[in-house]
Amino acid sequence: MSRISRAKFELTKMGMVLAWAMIVGSGRSGWAEEPNAPGVTLPRIGYVDSPFLPNSRWRVHDLYRPRPSIVHVAPSPAPASPPSDAVVLFDGKDLSQWMKRVDDPQSLQPAGWEVKDGAIVVVGGSGDIQSIATFADCQLHVEWSAPTPPEGGSQGRGNSGVYLMGHYEIQILDSHENTSYADGQAGAVYGQYPPLVNVTRPPGEWNSFDIVFEAPRFSGARLERPAYVTVFQNGVLVQYHREIMGVAAHKHTTEYKPHAPAGPVLLQDHGNPTRFRNIWVRPLNLAQSADQ
Ligand code: MG
Repeated sequence: MSRISRAKFELTKMGMVLAWAMIVGSGRSGWAEEPNAPGVTLPRIGYVDSPFLPNSRWRVHDLYRPRPSIVHVAPSPAPASPPSDAVVLFDGKDLSQWMKRVDDPQSLQPAGWEVKDGAIVVVGGSGDIQSIATFADCQLHVEWSAPTPPEGGSQGRGNSGVYLMGHYEIQILDSHENTSYADGQAGAVYGQYPPLVNVTRPPGEWNSFDIVFEAPRFSGARLERPAYVTVFQNGVLVQYHREIMGVAAHKHTTEYKPHAPAGPVLLQDHGNPTRFRNIWVRPLNLAQSADQ
């Protein structure tokens, strides 16, 4: 985006703010509320003071970035069995494939979440958990369910996340009749790309993510090739071959930090008792696939 077009865009936004002030001043709610579901209007939430994303008209978590439109799907079917070549990280039984997020390699600790009724449940305050196995390019399947009854709002409601290689977050949020900034909704590459649509089922129901991830390539400290991600939520495309900008960040632009060629699947403790089931990974080598 050129400086001139960005300046024009900023002027347009200033005009919108002025119009909003006039509408509110005249006693009407106006555009400051947005439709979320038929008959439901919710206040806008987002930032106007965060930095601009690179090559974008939008700021990180931009108040004005359009919210994804809503797509409805039927309730989740029973979980399907993993493919025969999958590494199963959770099959409803135990946390043997998981540990607490590694902050200190000299002090590994067990995962502090619970298993209840065949699902992993986040125990708020116990910390993120990560898979013991590590992966690079992969296909990842994970199912999640937002807490019910829902509590809190925006990013405080049903927030968790799936971090590929422990760094790149696909957001989990109760985005059903819950407004928040576009790049923080369920299925977002957090802080970078909103999902193409909002296809989040109501809290208590199960959502699925099917993720195709191409790991970044580093040559020493230098990034040779960024990561790419494609995501289906509940069978609906929400991210298509997005070039990931860097590690997940809140209210800041981001960059890559060199890391090992393989990393864990990490699940986020954001304080909400999100549930998980049926987690499996198919390791891939996407760099070679074009030559086969
Ligand atoms: Mg999150």
